[in-house]
Amino acid sequence: MARLPGTVQIMKSQCPACGTPTLRFVRGGDSRIADCSSCHGLWFEDGALNDAISSEHDHVDDHSHEVNLGQRLRTSDRQCRRCRVPMEHYQLLSNYRVEIDCCPSCDGVWLDHDEVEQVMHSPLLKDALADLNKKVSWKSWLFQFFTAMPVEYNVQPQKVPFVTWTLIALCTVIFLGNLNGPESEHWILVNLGLNSDSPDPIQIVLQLLTYQFVHGGLMHLLGNMYFLWIIGDNLEDALGHWAFLGLYLLSGMMAALAELLLFDSSQGPLLLVGASGSIAALFGLYLMWFRHASLTFMIVVYQKKLAPHWYFLIWSGINIFGMFTSQGGVAWAAHLGGFGFGLLLGYVLRDHVMRRNPLIAMLNQPEAQIRR
Ligand SMILES: [Zn+2]
Ligand SMILES: [Zn+2]
Repeated sequence: MARLPGTVQIMKSQCPACGTPTLRFVRGGDSRIADCSSCHGLWFEDGALNDAISSEHDHVDDHSHEVNLGQRLRTSDRQCRRCRVPMEHYQLLSNYRVEIDCCPSCDGVWLDHDEVEQVMHSPLLKDALADLNKKVSWKSWLFQFFTAMPVEYNVQPQKVPFVTWTLIALCTVIFLGNLNGPESEHWILVNLGLNSDSPDPIQIVLQLLTYQFVHGGLMHLLGNMYFLWIIGDNLEDALGHWAFLGLYLLSGMMAALAELLLFDSSQGPLLLVGASGSIAALFGLYLMWFRHASLTFMIVVYQKKLAPHWYFLIWSGINIFGMFTSQGGVAWAAHLGGFGFGLLLGYVLRDHVMRRNPLIAMLNQPEAQIRR
């Protein structure tokens, strides 16, 4: 059969999946890839799948997809369109539960329509699953034992998270201003913190933004900045820089409004500072979009990787307990208000974020097996 560039060749060959009698060779003139017009599956012959994968990923050479393939599972009920022998089921990746059909005699591969995207991303998926399935080690244990902070296991962001870094830098610079002496500390608290008795409504609106950058103590700053550091980068990557910045600031404002509504004014005016409310909203987003990530939790000396929903369930429990039992000092309502707003935003934006980030979408499917 002669190949004519730019045209579609129809050939008499049965679709291995749906039995349609004709497959069409298309796809940019590559005569080794055919698609089925009825079920939209794809046939790859003579190593065409290797070439297609390696042309999408710089670090993949022409043969490495074969090492990505997981174990041979069993004989398939589909037949190779060329050799007329039953094909074999292979697991796509060792920690990814998708099965593809390969011909044992000619190296032809059949992919159902919904498998194409996953197979094309298999080198990325393989690296991501290796990161996510890392075990806790003596290093993560030592870190958490001495800092009381969780270790995060998630995919590496593709973009440089410069908004996250800038937010951390601004909070740090303003905190260093406190060290300039009691007068400067007082000025920062009164003017940049959120004061419910500020005389001017415009000033209160500005303070809804600025209070997010003010911290009362070093531990308050370090705790908040650590969480912003570990989860901000993935969220900024998923949303894009400016949407991330906008949602971060908006969340901080919503958290402050929750605190303003619920605080007890008989105890005097409210003075609110800190990034905790904004960061609590990031927890909500993270829980909705990164079910495959893990955060470690330590009970006395035992360290365990937890899924985000377990981790933040425990965190919310501590906050609800604190709201009903403590005498003030911590803005529990701002934490829970921010978290609730983050969950709502995370739910509303979920489809948009998954469309923008195919890798994250795949890791959110039940096919991805995460070991905790
Ligand atoms: Zn078909
Ligand atoms: Zn074959």
